[in-house]
Amino acid sequence: MATNSTAEQVSALMQTYSRFPISLAKGKGSHVWDTEGNKYLDFTSGIAVCNLGHVPDEVKNEVQKQLDQLWHCSNLYNIPAQEELAKLLVENSFGEQVFFCNSGAEANEAAIKLAKRYARKIKGNDSPEIITFRQSFHGRTMATLTATGQEKIQDGFSPLLPGFRYLQFNDMASLGEIRESNACAVLLELVQGEGGVIPANPAWVKELEAICREKGMLLMIDEVQTGIGRTGPLFAYEQYGIVPDVISLAKGLGSGFPIGAIIAGKEAAKGFEPGSHGSTFGGNPLAATAGLATVKAVLDGAILEKAAGLASYLDEGLAELKAKHSVVKEIRGLGLLKGIKIDGNALDIVKTAMGEGLLILTAGPDVIRILPPLTASKEEVDQFLDILDKVLNKF
Ligand SMILES: *Cc1c(COP(=O)(O)O)cnc(C)c1O
Repeated sequence: MATNSTAEQVSALMQTYSRFPISLAKGKGSHVWDTEGNKYLDFTSGIAVCNLGHVPDEVKNEVQKQLDQLWHCSNLYNIPAQEELAKLLVENSFGEQVFFCNSGAEANEAAIKLAKRYARKIKGNDSPEIITFRQSFHGRTMATLTATGQEKIQDGFSPLLPGFRYLQFNDMASLGEIRESNACAVLLELVQGEGGVIPANPAWVKELEAICREKGMLLMIDEVQTGIGRTGPLFAYEQYGIVPDVISLAKGLGSGFPIGAIIAGKEAAKGFEPGSHGSTFGGNPLAATAGLATVKAVLDGAILEKAAGLASYLDEGLAELKAKHSVVKEIRGLGLLKGIKIDGNALDIVKTAMGEGLLILTAGPDVIRILPPLTASKEEVDQFLDILDKVLNKF
């Protein structure tokens, strides 16, 4: 055993996170409990993962059944739940074909690889460049952190991958640059999540779609955070009235069981053939079962309709808080992905809220991010608003 650990740093874990000083032991619905038995109202949903709340029965029951059957068999064999999940995603989206992986970064890796291979093999483009936006977040692998338009995420990891170009989000001039470029694809979030909860301007997105069509560029939407009902519809692209070529999914797809995916339209899907891409675990029987039960529950349970009602209720409450507290500068976001811009340090507010039994997140230094489960009740929203009101009184 290493003997150089100091009193401050006794964990055997690599220090890649600044963790909050609580240890969570249990969750149900909109609540979690720590190892000391303290109860918290969880308006983080494990960062947009537990959209059905913690340990949802519909998913738990199916995963429990699958635990007795088969956990893993590799993608060299047909996996019925994976087949069924792909069909369900295709039937409820623009897409034709699905590839499964294990995380958001892997989903974006798949999208990036698909775009490059489609450009080279189908379009004969031998320098396929991909356009992304400043303040975006697409993941932590080398390709996805290169795609991410934030220096703090890229710091220390050069040389980055060639072939990415960063433009200004929501900016009309950047559309001109895209029109002039030879890019093969554009990758964007419709609400920049980690970058500060910034929704894309609908007119700008429509224009971007038109340029992609005109130039034969793939329009790839990173729905890792916005997908599975988070912003209102099943996928955020629906509320923008656009038809993408590829979307990436992960966070909300498995209710906490790790699973990611890309959905591609018929044309873009031509970029992959047997052997082009793969994943040992991607969409394995347990993961696909969790994903299938999650998507079925979201679609069957009238959950999206209820969540839309809850989102407007939350909006009203947040508007009242803004009117009351001068430290609140702006409320923004879509559906149940909300940002509160603060005149000050958002992390201090998040820490104070934790002491009051409420879990919320930041998105950058001055934005609080709110991600309630889609299944939260109005009473829970009231409780959230009461605690936040009390916390904001101190700032
Ligand atoms: C979280 C996130 C990712 C990365 O997902 P991981 O599962 O952490 O790899 C990518 N894109 C967006 C928009 C995200 O919010």
